[in-house]
Amino acid sequence: MIALSLAEIAAVVGGQTHDIPDPSAQVTGPVVRDSREVVPGSLFAAFVGARVDGHDYAPQVVEAGAVAVLASRPVGVPAIVVDDVQTALGALARHVVRRLGATLVALTGSAGKTSTKDLIAQVLGRKAPTVYTPGSLNNEIGLPLTALSATEETKFLVLEMGARGIGHIRYLAELTPPRIGLVLNVGTAHLGEFGGREQIAQAKGELVEALPEDGAAILNADDPLVRAMASRTKAKVVLFGESAEADVRAENVRLTDSGQPAFRLHTPSGASDVTMRLYGEHHVSNALAAAAVAHELGMSAEEIALALSEAGTLSRWRMEVTERPDGVTIVNDAYNANPESVRAALRALAAMGKGRRTWAVLGKMAELGDEALAEHDAVGRLAVRLNVSKLVAVGGVEASWLQLGAYNEGSWGEESVHVSDAQAAIDLLRSELRPGDVVLVKASRSVGLESVAQALVEAG
Ligand code: ATP
Ligand code: MG
Repeated sequence: MIALSLAEIAAVVGGQTHDIPDPSAQVTGPVVRDSREVVPGSLFAAFVGARVDGHDYAPQVVEAGAVAVLASRPVGVPAIVVDDVQTALGALARHVVRRLGATLVALTGSAGKTSTKDLIAQVLGRKAPTVYTPGSLNNEIGLPLTALSATEETKFLVLEMGARGIGHIRYLAELTPPRIGLVLNVGTAHLGEFGGREQIAQAKGELVEALPEDGAAILNADDPLVRAMASRTKAKVVLFGESAEADVRAENVRLTDSGQPAFRLHTPSGASDVTMRLYGEHHVSNALAAAAVAHELGMSAEEIALALSEAGTLSRWRMEVTERPDGVTIVNDAYNANPESVRAALRALAAMGKGRRTWAVLGKMAELGDEALAEHDAVGRLAVRLNVSKLVAVGGVEASWLQLGAYNEGSWGEESVHVSDAQAAIDLLRSELRPGDVVLVKASRSVGLESVAQALVEAG
């Protein structure tokens, strides 16, 4: 963080100082909410959770070097006391990003935010010091914490923004006003909570509404609901995608034999070839989005193409490929799942598994509301059409819909199995896998199928 005195922080957040002997003492950062992350110079934000109350850790964080605690009540050690710690954190982030010399890039979308954020960070990081959202910390707490981790040296601040309802992105964009705003796609993620795609588009489009006139709205030309957001912004519009009207686009898109996307990247200032290290054709769209951001920030097509070709995964359980010594390949994509991402992962599995036996170990896709049955059925059918050798559907009723979809598509019947839980899937696969097999493991976060992927990796 940029150094700030406790007096200044108290003024910014409208808080009362308690037990502070020296208000000119400086917080040099980081601002943390986890007592284990405290280092000398930190500010500890005390949140009251369902199980733990951060205030209980006040003495020990100060012992560990925290300059003060941002708290909602006096705690007997140096504290800035506010009505609401989350609001205060937001106000502090807003104050700090105004003083930073960094360009703020914010992105949202239904699927691929974290993957794309990681790509953008790796591409921009080649040009100048870049700070970005760790993992998926994209809400009203994670976003300010990330912004507050920027320093004077930071040139680019890349922020993932998640929306679970109307007004969420508007709020996040007020805390950390971006100059560049990217919307990836409007899919079915969180459909149940939103009520429909139009509402999701309404919520995600708040990002481009927040952009200034000299900013840039980077929009997916291939997604009609995103493309239409062009009318909701004062900023310049830059389109990415495979469609011919896109400013930044891909030509000759293909999957290599190992399932990695390759394409020719076209930007307004030149073209260059990309072969990605990441798996799955959905990364073409993510890469184009990252390229559009990087182009907007002055990078050449060659620089961007090289960076994209060398970019790896920074976040766990997203198409993590492990080759076992016995020749079995495990693809751990268990971080999360929605219909778009499962389709993309199945196509990657099919490409990687050419001439090999392929297994799709799938669990439920959560939050689909009324579309849940149809979407699970469609995924089961697609697995058959892509010639996936075996479908293992894991869990409750959604898994039975997956299996039924596969069964109804026709060609297999017997080849799809429904097992009740992760352990049953592990037992089945341990006994059935043969050298050369490729196994994709994927489901919504709540299913926790990474245990299957990990057990299979260790079984090798
Ligand atoms: P979350 O809302 O959980 O933070 P996210 O939007 O950050 O998700 P990622 O974590 O990048 O998304 O990816 C989630 C899943 O979607 C992964 O399984 C990944 O393989 C898949 N995915 C990534 N990019 C795309 C895309 N452009 N289209 C469809 N699926 C994608
Ligand atoms: Mg994410």
